Amino acid sequence: MPSIRRRCVISCPTRKTLKLTPLPLIALLAVLANSLAADTTFGQESKPASAPVERPLVTVSAEAKAIHSRGYVFDGHNDLPWVVRTEASRSFDKLDISKPQPKIHTDIPRLKLGGVGAQYWSVYVPADTIKTGAAHQTTIEQIEIVKAMIARYPETFELALNSDDVNRIRAAGKIASMIGMEGGHAIENSIAKLRRLHEMGARYMTLTHSDTLDWADACSDAPKSHGLSEFGREVVREMNRLGMLVDISHVSTETMQSAMDISTAPVIFSHSSARGVAEHVRNVPDEILKQLPADGGVVMVNFFSGFIVPESAVNTRNMFERRRALQAKHGNDKDAVRKEMDAYELQNPVFPGSVHHVADHIDHIVKVAGIDHVGIGSDFDGIGTVPKQIEDVSKYPVLTQVLIDRGYKEADIHKVMSGNIMRVMKLAEIESKRLGT
Ligand SMILES: [Zn+2]
Repeated sequence: MPSIRRRCVISCPTRKTLKLTPLPLIALLAVLANSLAADTTFGQESKPASAPVERPLVTVSAEAKAIHSRGYVFDGHNDLPWVVRTEASRSFDKLDISKPQPKIHTDIPRLKLGGVGAQYWSVYVPADTIKTGAAHQTTIEQIEIVKAMIARYPETFELALNSDDVNRIRAAGKIASMIGMEGGHAIENSIAKLRRLHEMGARYMTLTHSDTLDWADACSDAPKSHGLSEFGREVVREMNRLGMLVDISHVSTETMQSAMDISTAPVIFSHSSARGVAEHVRNVPDEILKQLPADGGVVMVNFFSGFIVPESAVNTRNMFERRRALQAKHGNDKDAVRKEMDAYELQNPVFPGSVHHVADHIDHIVKVAGIDHVGIGSDFDGIGTVPKQIEDVSKYPVLTQVLIDRGYKEADIHKVMSGNIMRVMKLAEIESKRLGT
């Protein structure tokens, strides 16, 4: 098996690997100098934030374990398929997840420890694949990786296409495995390709990833449509008809609003947190959260420390622009981009924070939108820096303990862990029937 390098936010902000080989001092000084010189590219740079205050360690009680095990986790976003592609030549022989795989966040023993009962597996492909005409085909290959995983471990996973499937597969003691697409570039501006991906099993689509498309604006790129273009609105209407969830993580606030205005089914944020807690464009602003009771949708909280820890969010706020500018500067020289990014991050660290920060975001969304509109969208195996005590898929019971400590009742905890996303799926299925598929 190849060595698996720790990834840093592959699906979300930076998609880089953490450098494990120390640079010689002279080389380090050189990249630091380059990085500082490059700062002028990024307009105003403020002082890096300093580390947050340490918060108490959490001990999981017997009561928390019992409450957790009476429900299940339905996580909105896990990037394991991309890791299998890039680090294991798409082979579950090379990355056998029936065995502990401590270099990544996800394996079967830890999914079981974490009480994971349903999972949206992300079939992410990089946004720049659209430039080479490879976006659609690569997404299909990623769907095939999910199906290969299910075929390889049939005692653990089964493909789920709707909420009834989730209940049936759960009842059989397996993990209901759903497919979520990350980025509308996968459809290459074609409704026929959208339908094909639905036919292959995809049940949500994040409208953009990091780059603005011809028809939808990303939160981390310049706007084109100031929301959705006419074709973008057609995409959303077709997703409603198909019963595919409209995922508005990664999109601009204008596109969030436009999607919520057009969609006749509730929307989801498969892996986003709250801007009211940590100021970062990847998080959801209160003006959108306030509309969720009327919309019916759900924000599934992302665990990436760079989004959820306020001090880290300060230090990561320019990460998309920085990466894009470095890619323009260095072209295909990925090592050069990585070196400059690493040097920048030495100066602007992503502080891990802890499970308490995840709970802060849940609390805020409950306060602004209500208990029916929050879920879990860890982004495991798409992120490198994770909060303490919730470092992998085995740790969800720690979050249950923190919620108990904050006064959440069992029924509310189960809503957060799985009930709310199940409600949204059912409503989208009803709407799809009404629209006549
Ligand atoms: Zn993402």
